[in-house]
Amino acid sequence: MNNAKTQYVEPSSNSIGHAIETATKVFNDAKIDNPAFEAKLLMQHCIDESLAFLISHSADALSSAQHEQFFQWVNRRYNGEPIAYIVGETGFWDLNLYCNSSTLIPRSDTEILVEWALSLPLPNDASVLDLGTGTGAIALSLASQHPGWMVTGVDVVMDAVVLAKRNAERNQLDATFLQSDWFASLQHQKFDLIVSNPPYVEENSPYLHKGDLRYEPQTALVSGQCGLADIRTIIDNAKDYLTNNGWLLIEHGHKQALMVQSELKQKQYIQIETRKDLNSLDRVTGGCNSFFRR
Ligand code: GLN
Repeated sequence: MNNAKTQYVEPSSNSIGHAIETATKVFNDAKIDNPAFEAKLLMQHCIDESLAFLISHSADALSSAQHEQFFQWVNRRYNGEPIAYIVGETGFWDLNLYCNSSTLIPRSDTEILVEWALSLPLPNDASVLDLGTGTGAIALSLASQHPGWMVTGVDVVMDAVVLAKRNAERNQLDATFLQSDWFASLQHQKFDLIVSNPPYVEENSPYLHKGDLRYEPQTALVSGQCGLADIRTIIDNAKDYLTNNGWLLIEHGHKQALMVQSELKQKQYIQIETRKDLNSLDRVTGGCNSFFRR
């Protein structure tokens, strides 16, 4: 966590447009990727209005409370706090999901896993398990595309389970969320599909000290054995919870694909494959659980 707080000078003019302009400059100085986009996003949340409103009412004055709130947020963002934690939500798939510091902010890379899951030859009433569900992003995207699927999401962090339930309610989706340390609290159910975006960052990775990761909980990011401990736990146990011909898809670090493939091979999965993320990096590996070798 970066605790060095820097206070930025607030602008004299009180209009929406001027505040956005000032924030954009501040974010530009902080080398934030999309400064104007983020400044407008903060304003939208601050005054609870649409983007179109910001443009058409750019000369409107902010109340002093709105002004104060906006520049508090600008300062937090300037100091590196993720925008999803400041505004309390983010987009994933076609859903708006509440976010908080109990869990990881959903990434667009994970949509690769969702796309793959949706393309699998599964029954219309498939039962699906999302391990380490966090905000519920994967579970809820699948539930939104396949209302007939019975989707369960588990997380060891109770606050994440509460958050995922709020996200189901917000998006009017049917999914069950419960607290469980991986498979520990599950009865002996069988699933047609198990998906997971587990913690997979190595303990000493310099990446943990950069960007949004500084603010995200280590429980959701870091795993022992060079980032592979939790992935191994999942692969070691998944077969007991998969139907014959059920699928296991796991997100992982871009250098972990071969290790994950070899763990799946050892467990006699078939059709093992790795898919790349939007930056062409290996990101998701999966396979099919077949009792009968082909
Ligand atoms: N994909 C995330 C990142 O590299 C890490 C997520 C995870 O550990 N599950 O920022």
